[in-house]
Amino acid sequence: MKAAVLEAFNTPMVIHQNWAEPKCGPEDAIIKVAANGVCRSDWHVCVGDWDWLGLQPELPHVIGHEFVGTVAEVGSQVKGYKVGDRVVCPFNLGCGACEYCLGGHQNTCGEGKLAGFATSGGYGEYAHILKADMNLVSLPESVAFTEAAGMGCRFMTSFHGIVDQVKVSGGEWVAIHGCGGIGLAAIQIANAVGANVIAIDINDKSLEVARKMGAVHTINAGSGNVAEAVKEYTKGGVDVSVDALGIAATCLNSVMSLKKRGRHLQIGLTSRAEEGFVSLPVDMMVAMELQLIGTIGMQPRRYGAMLNMVQSGKLRPGEMITSVIPIEEAPAVIESMGSYGTVGTTVVSWE
Ligand SMILES: [Zn+2]
Ligand SMILES: [Zn+2]
Repeated sequence: MKAAVLEAFNTPMVIHQNWAEPKCGPEDAIIKVAANGVCRSDWHVCVGDWDWLGLQPELPHVIGHEFVGTVAEVGSQVKGYKVGDRVVCPFNLGCGACEYCLGGHQNTCGEGKLAGFATSGGYGEYAHILKADMNLVSLPESVAFTEAAGMGCRFMTSFHGIVDQVKVSGGEWVAIHGCGGIGLAAIQIANAVGANVIAIDINDKSLEVARKMGAVHTINAGSGNVAEAVKEYTKGGVDVSVDALGIAATCLNSVMSLKKRGRHLQIGLTSRAEEGFVSLPVDMMVAMELQLIGTIGMQPRRYGAMLNMVQSGKLRPGEMITSVIPIEEAPAVIESMGSYGTVGTTVVSWE
């Protein structure tokens, strides 16, 4: 199959025309990839990050974890899907047997296997999904593949974070720090559930897109003290603040933007500079009764709620896509993320 292959860390992925296709196990499925979203996580993997999380794949490897497409092959034990079905593939793969999967929280499965990391991913023509009955989600005909590409990662991660984890409600102030794919999705989702959203980024073009996603106010993080600007605009601070990037500055700015009893949502995973650790003002957090909440992926059973909002037009994941590219252009787009060179989100189309 054709594939962009990560052969070594800190080198661009290489296009191969005859890479070996993934093999289907008895409970698995092989997906003919129609579209794959380009994610900041791809950049993290390409530069060799996340060894501290145990997420470094063995190279060479075909990464890509934001893919949608049609089922090309199912294992002998798969009951719920057949060849030709349109599917979205959540990156978090549940084992089905651990305490977390049995409790309905496959996104925090004890095995921690992620599509595109533990399996062959969406930068190849065919991608591998483990335990298809547990881990695939049917995609309605009305949702286009390019629009759905982010639903396996950034869009559903933001939905789970905003709706399930911090439970944003109508009229609350929400600050989103970082307006990449995750941040733009979080803005649209928080807006759709009735919050007033403030978007923060260092790039004015990203802030323009943030306004289109529903932000009522934007702050350029390069223009001064972010937390003070948020507190001044909201007359005291926000109810919910989201670190949608995962560097020390955005994490701290997010916590410092909260009012008393506020909830900080951490979506972004950190970079080499932090290796998972960020200093935070814990005395202030105690005195203000702040909450720190993490979020990762989303369990398949929650897709119904999100897809209902997509089909009714309240959520429009297609609006944050700024370019659709062929696979040949993916390596350069990922490289440009190191210098925050992208605005909105990019999707690789395999069609
Ligand atoms: Zn992603
Ligand atoms: Zn599990």
